[in-house]
Amino acid sequence: MDLREWLSTAAEEIGRWQLEYGPFDSHGSTAVDDDEFGAAFSKLVGRLRDNYPFFHPRYAAQMLKPPHPAAAVGYLAAMLINPNNHALDGGPATAALEREAVDQLAGMFGFPEYLGHLTTSGTIANLEALFVARETHPGRGVAHSVDAHFTHQRMCHVLGMESYPVPTDALGRMNLDALEALLRTGRVGTVVLTAGTTGIGAVDPVHEVLALRERYGVRIHVDAAYGGFFSLIADDSADGVASAPFAAIKSCDSVTVDPHKHGLQPYGCGAVLFADPGVGKFYKHDSPYTYFTSTELHLGEISLECSRAGAAASALWLTFQLIPPTPDALGTILRPCRRAALRWADLISDEESVDLYQPPDLDVVTFLPRAGSVSEVDRITNAVVAEGMAAPPKDAVYVAAYSVTAQALADRGWRGVADVPKSRILRSSLMKPEDEVWVDYLHGRVVELVRGAGAVAA
Ligand SMILES: *Cc1c(COP(=O)(O)O)cnc(C)c1O
Repeated sequence: MDLREWLSTAAEEIGRWQLEYGPFDSHGSTAVDDDEFGAAFSKLVGRLRDNYPFFHPRYAAQMLKPPHPAAAVGYLAAMLINPNNHALDGGPATAALEREAVDQLAGMFGFPEYLGHLTTSGTIANLEALFVARETHPGRGVAHSVDAHFTHQRMCHVLGMESYPVPTDALGRMNLDALEALLRTGRVGTVVLTAGTTGIGAVDPVHEVLALRERYGVRIHVDAAYGGFFSLIADDSADGVASAPFAAIKSCDSVTVDPHKHGLQPYGCGAVLFADPGVGKFYKHDSPYTYFTSTELHLGEISLECSRAGAAASALWLTFQLIPPTPDALGTILRPCRRAALRWADLISDEESVDLYQPPDLDVVTFLPRAGSVSEVDRITNAVVAEGMAAPPKDAVYVAAYSVTAQALADRGWRGVADVPKSRILRSSLMKPEDEVWVDYLHGRVVELVRGAGAVAA
């Protein structure tokens, strides 16, 4: 599809609908002269060049990529109307689109019934899940792994709940012995499991924790903001991911997933799903302003946020019309990402100037320059990140840094001198399917930089 053509078609079609209401004159106060607009716009385009090339396979650093063109057109079309998905008064069409798209998300996880909605972000989705957790398990705290997103600790603070960090094992997954010891104290009402940590893409053993739920009377929330869409390729195949943790999500109490990460959407699109539709009662409130056009349950009645972009629902719905969240559609976009990660992990294992930090669970690869001390690992990592970015565009390569403790390195069999307590290591999110084609090149460039910065060959 040609993005430019469909963007103007979107503007024309919305204009056609608007004309049905008859012409009217825009107020002079909002008028902008074309020359002035052109000048300001060219300033903007100039300013936007100050960005990293998230769209290009050379960019294999943070979890960032542009939306699918279908999402861009879907977003623009609705944005020109600017519906508000808080209530049906604000946007009946996009509220319906939201319900359908969320239903597809629930289908992806396999929830037999659910209550759910889109949110502005994974942060808000997690906040809502923890808010409901506080209401169902009053006076008890939240356990999450030390590698869980920092948002859980912060949102516990916001909600006035105690948060309990649980250590991780040598694969970055929650240590279940430590969890169980904590559960025995009775202080924990909710366990947050991460299906794909933001740092290294580690997947907590959701299926094993489920077995503890009844014994300790806890609620289980899965933070799958990043990893949720890997459910589509969770089939234990050579280019899939482990099935057991993902298959267990449908039996948990709630899940967060971010369509603005692996769901091809622009920012402003998270989602939260609850297994028990009855939790809707915790959101109950009266509004003197809204809720007049229908007696049906409004999205605003099951969400903590008020105004939300109907355009985000429109973008997601249109994308899912073409690339639904099924193994045969969106799954075929995730598989090459997974293959890229596995291929890079193999290349790293065969290369003497770098060491794999740990095997990837999803599509995030973590590795480190070979060096005799933690401080050297840190120095070389920093040089590689900086020099990769500083190279001219046709030679540039973007990788990210991730901070680990000397203990975490030792836990993974690293045997250098722990002269400082922490180091940065190299981290790449391979979240574009094109990465599969580029991964050999990326590896070659990174090894060149690592060697140039003085990594020691074994
Ligand atoms: C990205 C992420 C979040 C935060 O979501 P936002 O959409 O950035 O607010 C929370 N948890 C995990 C595991 C994430 O990857």
